[in-house]
Amino acid sequence: IKKTAGKYAKDATPVKQAAVLGAGIMGGGVAYQSASKGTPIIMKDIRPEALELGLSEANKLFNGQIERGRLTADKALKAMNGITPALSYGEFGHVDLVVEAVVENVKVKKAVLAETEQYITDTTILASNTSTISITELAKDLKRPENFCGMHFFNPVHRMPLVEVIRGAKTSDAAVAKTVSYAQAMGKTPIVVNDCPGFLVNRVLFPYFAGFSLMMKEGADFQQVDKTMEKFGWPMGPAYLLDVVGIDTAYHADRVMAEGYPDRMKHEGVNAVDRLYELERFGQKNSKGFYMYE
Ligand code: NAD
Repeated sequence: IKKTAGKYAKDATPVKQAAVLGAGIMGGGVAYQSASKGTPIIMKDIRPEALELGLSEANKLFNGQIERGRLTADKALKAMNGITPALSYGEFGHVDLVVEAVVENVKVKKAVLAETEQYITDTTILASNTSTISITELAKDLKRPENFCGMHFFNPVHRMPLVEVIRGAKTSDAAVAKTVSYAQAMGKTPIVVNDCPGFLVNRVLFPYFAGFSLMMKEGADFQQVDKTMEKFGWPMGPAYLLDVVGIDTAYHADRVMAEGYPDRMKHEGVNAVDRLYELERFGQKNSKGFYMYE
């Protein structure tokens, strides 16, 4: 962990207009959080139905704030209007910082980042919300790697305070500063961490998932493991957490971790997450994973 994050942000000019690529679990959450704290944001996806879902999830969260008396209907409407759905890069020339939150796949992310670079200015910061992929690796084919870093939010974005800001080999101080200041403006607690597969949190979390998968191979019942971890004091057990994260996201992230740490993270054969992935049981996002959802 590098210095106190606040030190980086003190000279940064604030982000006035943001954008997020992907309107899924994370992209939708980032859009809500940014708009609710007063930074307008363009939410871009390639699927209109993803944009609709992202907007309706944000709307639900704003309605919850109104019901709890934390926001007036007028203020909620104003904040909601701060999210602009988009299927094209039309307005990206006016954006100060772009958060990339598309699928956890190196090839897809590299293609999306290279495409985005064509539409943003020389000073726009491009930040990836990747869970595990090395920032230096993602920056390899970029024209302006100095403007690129990691901005790793946690799920659900509106509840989880931590944001990992990841410095790649070529990331500039200015890019780190701007990203830290944006995280702070969103009401989050940023920490600046070095680049490596999984960064800080997922280097702890994925070995935990791997331990759980091994236990399942040995015949453990996932519901019992979940119940036990809850009694231990954790808010949820590993199977439920994997459903929340998304089985597809966990599957791809697990491969990145296995490649990054072959001695510790490679597993033989098919484990429970692999099997659920093959069955397209992606967790809460498609209502079936370890558990079934309404
Ligand atoms: P998701 O599957 O819910 O959403 C991904 C979205 O990206 C989809 O709506 C898809 O249509 C869209 N997309 C795909 N290609 C695109 C493109 N070219 N341009 C714009 N949009 C495109 O996934 P998610 O859970 O939101 O994960 C997104 C990223 O965030 C991943 O890198 C993941 O590792 C990371 N992340 C996930 C979690 C989690 O708990 N789910 C936590 C932290 C970080």
